[in-house]
Order: sequence, then C-alpha cells, then structure tokens
Amino acid sequence: MIKENLNEVRKKIDEARARAGRNDDVTLIAVSKTKPVSMLREAYDAGVRDFGENKVQEIVEKYPELPDDIRWHLIGHLQTNKVKYIIDKVCLIHSVDTYKLAEEISRQAVKHDVTAKILIEVNVAEEESKFGVKPEETLSLCEQISTLPNIEIHGLMTVAPYVSDPEENRAVFCALRELLVDIAGKNIDNVFMDCLSMGMSGDYTVAVEEGASYVRVGTSIFGQREYKRVEG
Ligand SMILES: *Cc1c(COP(=O)(O)O)cnc(C)c1O
Repeated sequence: MIKENLNEVRKKIDEARARAGRNDDVTLIAVSKTKPVSMLREAYDAGVRDFGENKVQEIVEKYPELPDDIRWHLIGHLQTNKVKYIIDKVCLIHSVDTYKLAEEISRQAVKHDVTAKILIEVNVAEEESKFGVKPEETLSLCEQISTLPNIEIHGLMTVAPYVSDPEENRAVFCALRELLVDIAGKNIDNVFMDCLSMGMSGDYTVAVEEGASYVRVGTSIFGQREYKRVEG
C-alpha cells in the first residue's frame, strides 16, 4: 500500500513540475511521525531516503533502527533543551523561528564539530496558533543568525493553513517564494536561500507549482495518523 501511495504522490509531483515547466528537483519528504519503524522500512524499500519527524524523541528512537543513508528532517517545533539530542542526526532543521534557538543549535554544532543546516519557519498566513516568524521579521532574523558559527541558513519553510481547496494556499506559497528571492538578493554570508519547504498532503501539488524544493507528505503516503487520547 505504501509503495502504491508513493508512486501516486511521485506521479502528481512530476505532473505539477511539468505544468510549471520546472526542470529543477523536488524532494519528497515522507513524514513518518507516529508511524512504526516497519512502515518506514517499507517506504525505504520503495526508495525513500528523506524522512520527516516532528518530535525529537521519535527521531532518537527510530534513528538506530534504520539504515544510515537516511536523511532525517526535523520539521516540528524544536525546544532549545532538546537540540543536543538530534544535532548530529538530522540533515536539516526546518523549523527555526527564534534567535535563541539558532544560538543553541550553533553552540551544539560547534561542540559536535558539525555544520548545522537550517530553514527559517515563516508564519506566512499569520495564524495565531502557528509557530514561525512574521514575514516582515524574517530578514532581520536571518541577518542575526548569519553571524553565528557552524550554522547555515538554507531557505524558508511554512506550514500553510488547513484548507479544503488547495488553491486557497497558492498565495501563501507564492509569498514564501517571493520572500526567499528578496532575502537571497541581500547576499548575506552563510545565508544560501536554496530551499523552499512547503506543501503537505492537502496542497503539495500547488506548492510544487509555486516552486517548492521540499514537500512534506505524511497522510497521503502512510495513511491517517492515530493519536492516543490523553486522558484528563
Ligand atoms: C505532520 C506534518 C506534515 C505532513 O502532514 P500531512 O497532512 O499528513 O501530509 C508536514 N509538515 C509538518 C510540519 C507536519 O507537522
């Protein structure tokens, strides 16, 4: 089932790339949060090498169970005190939205002698419930972070609003891309702006049309997530 789902998602990505006349790459990140290692292995066997998780604990648990050519993406909110657990395990942290968090990432990267690659999470639609920096504050955050050692900013990420018609998010994706182009034009040291992480199961085809380089797809690959009810 996972293999068929993957083929379907890959086909839709290719079709969207063709519609937009794109020749550059789109990387599909299989968002495996809450899913067991057996399902990740099935996706791995179907060719997936990029996996996305939103909890530090899950990466730490799954990491030793799976092949080491997997690229782990941290896509969820990251607490400063947990950076140390994943700094040498993830290839890209998609969700940096404060200087304080970047500072800790930098500190841990120096300690582990690695260069941390990050994206800045932008709350494009300015939803109150969402993490992410405001669009108008993104440039100054990039400038601040760019002075820190062992950390490279590689682009921007957004979690678009939950909508029934993906077309409603086109303007959000377009705005994120324009912000990326603006900041790229400032030629800041250590700021590369070569990645746009946007699009989820409900809207990834529109995101690809608008220039996504990473799409983060969970439900359409692994099926619905079941969350345990927390009592009390
Ligand atoms: C869960 C999650 C996704 C994937 O969502 P689906 O709708 O299941 O595809 C993508 N990005 C982030 C940040 C997530 O937390």
